[in-house]
Amino acid sequence: MVNHSRRQFVGQCAAVAGTSAVSAMAGRIPADGAQTQPLGNWAGNYQYTASGITPARSLAQVQDFVRKHAHFKVLGTRHCFNGIADSADQFLSLREMNEIVGLDRAARTVTIEAGMSYGQLCPPLDQDGFALHNLASLPHISIAGACATGTHGSGVGNGNLSTAVSAFEIVTAGGDVLSIARSKDPRTFQATVVSLGALGVVTRLTLDVQPAFTMRQDVYLDLSMAQVREHFEDIVAAGYSVSLFTDWQRGRVNEVWVKRRVAAGETVAALQDYYGARPATTHVHPIVELSAENCTAQMGVAGPWYERLPHFRMGFTPSSGKELQSEYFVARSNAVDAISAVERLRDHVSPHLLITELRTIAADDLWMSPCYKRPSLAIHFTWKPDWPSVRTVLPMIERELAPFEVRPHWGKLFTIPSAQLQARYEMSAEFKRLVAEHDPHGKFRNAFLTANLYG
Ligand SMILES: Cc1cc2nc3c(=O)[nH]c(=O)nc-3n(C[C@H](O)[C@H](O)[C@H](O)COP(=O)(O)OP(=O)(O)OC[C@H]3O[C@@H](n4cnc5c(N)ncnc54)[C@H](O)[C@@H]3O)c2cc1C
Repeated sequence: MVNHSRRQFVGQCAAVAGTSAVSAMAGRIPADGAQTQPLGNWAGNYQYTASGITPARSLAQVQDFVRKHAHFKVLGTRHCFNGIADSADQFLSLREMNEIVGLDRAARTVTIEAGMSYGQLCPPLDQDGFALHNLASLPHISIAGACATGTHGSGVGNGNLSTAVSAFEIVTAGGDVLSIARSKDPRTFQATVVSLGALGVVTRLTLDVQPAFTMRQDVYLDLSMAQVREHFEDIVAAGYSVSLFTDWQRGRVNEVWVKRRVAAGETVAALQDYYGARPATTHVHPIVELSAENCTAQMGVAGPWYERLPHFRMGFTPSSGKELQSEYFVARSNAVDAISAVERLRDHVSPHLLITELRTIAADDLWMSPCYKRPSLAIHFTWKPDWPSVRTVLPMIERELAPFEVRPHWGKLFTIPSAQLQARYEMSAEFKRLVAEHDPHGKFRNAFLTANLYG
């Protein structure tokens, strides 16, 4: 991974947490539109090196910017924990391009401008009677950034968020506009949806939608790890989306969040005897010390899909805020062994951990997706903001998970050497060939891509 210097890891919460970079700096953007204030990522652990950020308000402005700049990156909502979004030169922001372009009821698709966040899209989409198949733990993130990094939610039958994309429009290095659709050119489509920001500026995305649905969310406490080992497949299939939160202590999962779809007019009860775990009798936060006010409604209260699928509410700080994150994907067939492998490291992990989340994701066919051709278990770590300690623990976890051909989340912290990383993405060489075709002079290449894909 890119070499994070201590200077980059300032280890403090960003002053602009939860808002867009551009809007947070509104009023400080000079007449030429470029903003020059130093900028950090959402968690404040990474200080970007770009010298300015320019907002685009139209496709023509994007094309103009692309033609005038030799090197730059698009910055989304800054929710990655590493340098994947960083540029040594310039940022382009599409946060002001955040409209719904059109809803096609017959085709069951919605087309949006690429600066839109899930939090902006979901309420009007629901009002129009439609839903997305899944969401991440938070709605605050940009749709384009999430899809570029293979962001996911949970559910054995649910692909990551990138799998909802059915077409997109991208401005490539020469300023040309390409439209890529799943139905028209499946190979290029599979190659480019999880783009890691390497292929160009995504300006529009078309997403599959389905009729809006209602959900209930129930939390169960103190599920024993012995039950997880014995009944893993049944436990994670007990809901449409299931998340297991553990601190790896006392041989148990602290909380299980079970999100179930409720058909119209149907009354669904809480699960009886959920493998010995007891139903929570009050709303909880995954990090038990933090306020449940920031979280989506639990206790079986029925509500719209977009207010149950994420753990955290729009308008509130998701997770802890002052944190680092890592996440590792293994094949679901190795889930129990992988969980046991991490459990064996608990004395190294727990002192630096806020919470671990275990989620499942369906396999997909997107080349650079961590779930490429693998129904997956994702083992996530929300760490205390102490990079010097965390960076000593990550190689231990990566070593224990190496027999399972572990793949890291592209937007979180990892230390897997480039050669191993590339070997675990069997299409990475093909992907780089395609990048070379569309971006022959490395306009969208940055230190993160150089270190991880070309190292
Ligand atoms: C509190 C918290 C909770 C999280 N929960 C989850 C979770 O539940 N599941 C999960 O998988 N991840 C999760 N993440 C990780 C994270 O949400 C994603 O990886 C993230 O959404 C990336 O989107 P972004 O807009 O913030 O992108 P940025 O970090 O701004 O950029 C990421 C990459 O996308 C590229 N990009 C962005 N927009 C465009 C565009 N228009 N065209 C081309 N490239 C573009 C950038 O250049 C960069 O390469 C979480 C992060 C935080 C902080």
